[in-house]
Amino acid sequence: MTKTTVLILLGPPGAGKGTQARMLEEQFGLVQLSTGDLLRAAVAAGTDAGKQAKAVMESGGLVSDEIVLAILKDRMAAPDMEKGAILDGFPRTAKQAEALDALLAEIGMGLGAAISLEVDDEAMVERVSGRYTCANCGEGYHDLYKKPAVNGVCDKCGATEFKRRSDDNAETVSARLAAYHEQTAPLISYYEGKGALRRVDAMGDIDRIAEDLAAIVKDVAA
Ligand code: AMP
Repeated sequence: MTKTTVLILLGPPGAGKGTQARMLEEQFGLVQLSTGDLLRAAVAAGTDAGKQAKAVMESGGLVSDEIVLAILKDRMAAPDMEKGAILDGFPRTAKQAEALDALLAEIGMGLGAAISLEVDDEAMVERVSGRYTCANCGEGYHDLYKKPAVNGVCDKCGATEFKRRSDDNAETVSARLAAYHEQTAPLISYYEGKGALRRVDAMGDIDRIAEDLAAIVKDVAA
């Protein structure tokens, strides 16, 4: 794989962007870059950006492009980015997509593909409402679809503390889905127009979806 591959995962909340990005990170050494994770870290650290983002995130709306772009640029400047990145939750608006094009050109990285994870909206509220992660290593689980092998113990690291996101409740998920359809779904045509779009059926088994994504990564890198 070239050192500069950047992949974008597009899809509504619950489509599996984070889960699949982590799997690609393990398999290909690409760095998972989640603007949601970066924003949650800023909120937890109480930075100015975090203070401004907090209420918007709790309401299910989108944080301003200015804040998100500043956080993203900062992260993209880190040395580990030369391995290539998998963008999870970014871009989410037309302005972010254009800013990403400019940033990639500036830092000499190429867009490998924008992958649309195609799911049924109705299933997303249940998917999101039941999910939680290991507080230590971040491995994702679900009350119904992906339980740890031993109840209460993380499969990956053995930790026994888990956490749920405060915005993973039915009301906020509906607002997040609406934001996705209004502002992010149009990016599917944007990347289709550039010839960079790939579509993956993301309703089935997690491992099958991972295989479809891995095939795309290999194809793009070939
Ligand atoms: P996520 O972890 O991707 O589901 O993002 C959680 C929340 O962070 C979203 O509901 C937004 O409020 C905010 N957020 C994450 N990424 C972005 C982005 N690229 N642009 C605007 N807001 C974002």
